[in-house]
Amino acid sequence: MILLDHVTKKYPTDPHPALDEVSLHIEPNEFVFMVGKSGAGKSTVIKMITKEENPTSGNITVGGIDLKYVKKRYIPHYRRRLGVVFQDFKLLPNRTVYENVAFALEIAGFSSREIKNTVPKVLEIVELSDKAKKFPSALSGGEIQRVAIARAVARQPKILIADEPTANLDVLTKSEIINLLQRINDSGTTVLVTTHDENVVNNLRKRVITIKDGRIVADQKDGGVYRLDRASAEAAARAAALARAQAVGEAQARAEQVIRNAEAQGRTNLFNDRPQPVRRVRTMKTEKRPLSETPLYSIRQAKPKKAAPINVMTSRDPFAVATSVKAPRKASSISTKSKKTMKPKRSVI
Ligand code: ADP
Repeated sequence: MILLDHVTKKYPTDPHPALDEVSLHIEPNEFVFMVGKSGAGKSTVIKMITKEENPTSGNITVGGIDLKYVKKRYIPHYRRRLGVVFQDFKLLPNRTVYENVAFALEIAGFSSREIKNTVPKVLEIVELSDKAKKFPSALSGGEIQRVAIARAVARQPKILIADEPTANLDVLTKSEIINLLQRINDSGTTVLVTTHDENVVNNLRKRVITIKDGRIVADQKDGGVYRLDRASAEAAARAAALARAQAVGEAQARAEQVIRNAEAQGRTNLFNDRPQPVRRVRTMKTEKRPLSETPLYSIRQAKPKKAAPINVMTSRDPFAVATSVKAPRKASSISTKSKKTMKPKRSVI
């Protein structure tokens, strides 16, 4: 239905191409989201399809028509085959809803009988029959957008293109508009929607073409999601993981320093300034307990080379350092001095 074949578009005033070798094929009756940040090239794709602009190189075929053969004077005829809802679309302020839709048919050459038949049906589709006599100033943002869609679909085009149709609308109205576009698509119209609204795209799970810097960077045929935001989310996750790894590294470094200081001072117990006799530790029989249950201070005494690094230095999670080290079971068995010194030392780790 729509075919872009290695399309490049360079605007004279812009050194970078707005579109760079873009190729895409949209099948009849597809519902496609084209997403990307502002300046990515979405509007330029639409301008290529509507022949508002010509490509610098490459071919465009729409509904079997090769656009390079559409002469200037036939462009209005060609455009009548398309329904387009522009982002900055304005309704005629001094005409009613009915007249605004009727006007679109008038300029397309419909007879007054055809207009009388068609407009009520279209207003019914967009659920605005009861607002037919209202002027645009009396309509909400969502209703204005529905009139714009009604105007675009009144001629029953095979292709409907909507440029940011949900911009500046609240969540509920956005979903009404998208439901309406879905219904139009269900009736056999190919729908191409540009947006940078992540929720709209991710809720519908349609084909999603992602444009970045004038290139297609992703084309998800079904169940698509907004790739750019996903990429941002992944970048954020990577940054968080890096920060986390750094935090772990810092925690490890601090732990190593604490151990080195303790060892330099001849201490074998991190939480007790006073060196403990090794014999006393052996009588505590802590070696057979699972590591997680073993108090840090006794491990350090019993197996100073292995036990302390396991609890303090090899943990992947800096928070796990605190949680994996259990407090001594019998606090009363620790000397008053060691109880006093316990808190500050643990907080260092
Ligand atoms: P989007 O619709 O994704 O926001 P556009 O297609 O409007 O992106 O723009 C793509 C690039 O082309 C941008 O860098 C923009 O500045 C440039 N551009 C768009 N229209 C023109 C123009 N008429 N003249 C010069 N540069 C333009």
